[in-house]
Amino acid sequence: MRSLKITLPQRNTRQRDVILQELCRLTSHPTATDLYDIVRRRLPRISLGTVYRNLDQLAEAGMIRRLEAGGGQARFDGNIEPHHHVRCIHCGRVGDVHDVPTLPGAGDVAAADGYEIISCRVEFLGVCPECREEPASGGGRDRVDRGGRMSRDG
Ligand SMILES: [Zn+2]
Ligand SMILES: [Zn+2]
Repeated sequence: MRSLKITLPQRNTRQRDVILQELCRLTSHPTATDLYDIVRRRLPRISLGTVYRNLDQLAEAGMIRRLEAGGGQARFDGNIEPHHHVRCIHCGRVGDVHDVPTLPGAGDVAAADGYEIISCRVEFLGVCPECREEPASGGGRDRVDRGGRMSRDG
């Protein structure tokens, strides 16, 4: 377990503990909704709002990472060691990338237009193994149509 020195609200710590435990167990970078489905198995009365609120608090306390998705739902990562991510352009799943050359530190970057650089975020885009495996015939993966595109309704 991590040692917690950060002040977090002391209310409902059991819920927060369960959320943190489940998140740390996963490497799939779930969204709040994904995590809600998982946590609900242990805490049937928990609400989605509670999951959101606890994830926000944990992210603010630096105990988990929030991965902002361009346009999509934020995903959460229980692994706060520095690492990068790859996002599947078909299904949106996010994986960890470990073998990346060290990026320049904040102090090495010449800031443009008076910005102070505080961090650098790298996100690779790719196609995950499942989406690469195009079903040969009638495989029936419902989220990806025959052209390999994500079907979007609305
Ligand atoms: Zn995919
Ligand atoms: Zn990660």
